[in-house]
Amino acid sequence: MAQDLDGMTACVTGGARGLGAAIVRRLAEDGAAVVIADVLDDDGTALAEDLTAAGKTVSFRHHDVTSEADWSALVDAIDATFGKLDILVNNAAIIIRQRLSDQTLDQWRRAFDVNVAGTFLAIRSCRELLKRSGAASVVNISSTAGVVAHLDPSYTASKWAVRGLTKSTALELVGDGIRVNSVHPSTIATPLTAAAPAGHLEANRHAIPLGREAQPEEIANIVAFLASPQSSYMTGSELVADGGMTTAGVAHMRDQFQRALTEGS
Ligand code: NAD
Repeated sequence: MAQDLDGMTACVTGGARGLGAAIVRRLAEDGAAVVIADVLDDDGTALAEDLTAAGKTVSFRHHDVTSEADWSALVDAIDATFGKLDILVNNAAIIIRQRLSDQTLDQWRRAFDVNVAGTFLAIRSCRELLKRSGAASVVNISSTAGVVAHLDPSYTASKWAVRGLTKSTALELVGDGIRVNSVHPSTIATPLTAAAPAGHLEANRHAIPLGREAQPEEIANIVAFLASPQSSYMTGSELVADGGMTTAGVAHMRDQFQRALTEGS
């Protein structure tokens, strides 16, 4: 269902590709002016040009979520053009894909820098702009890795941290008219998933009762709902969109594993 976001301004971090790009498209189609904030200049510029040609108000800005200076400059730019921010989607993240003994301290720190400090800096930097909205919404993209365990310590711990940060900021910003919620997808068809080792996607499909990964648009639908006044009574909430993954019990996993062995898939 389309949301009425006319007159609203949105910022989507990591919006140049993957899930972020689907969120940008969706928010723009629903009427918001969207700023894409990403380090991928070619993808971000192409997406902004594509949507601008289609009559939407979308711009790209080179932006590293770990940089305080970049946040300060981005806030100034949004202030100068729009004077307020109604929707902030903290979507940018990285995944190391190493198990405990193989993961270096530098990799751990980098994951926390982008996934957690990037989200913290975003909310802290944008607070005043969001307050001016009068009814702003922050949507933090976590993961099922922020609900259960994945075999990647920095990704799991950082996505749990995003969930905790969501709850703490929801409490603190309620008086500013700012709602903060998190979204927890399982596997999504994006470049991040495509870069996973061979067999990863197939193994995940067996763990998901719906039997397939999500399309980015299916998660963007949820973000658009959380961004809109339709979710006005939700703050500090976590929406899990995982095809039933975290609902599945051991019996389901065993059956799927057994079936995979029998069918040789
Ligand atoms: P992706 O790698 O395709 O896209 C991530 C985007 O973030 C890229 O455009 C990248 O350039 C940007 N980014 C990375 N570091 C940045 C930085 N320092 N500053 C600004 N931008 C930066 O990944 P995706 O699959 O689209 O993931 C989007 C979000 O969804 C992430 O938060 C991810 O953890 C979450 N998620 C993904 C999956 C999945 O299966 N793909 C599942 C659950 C949650």
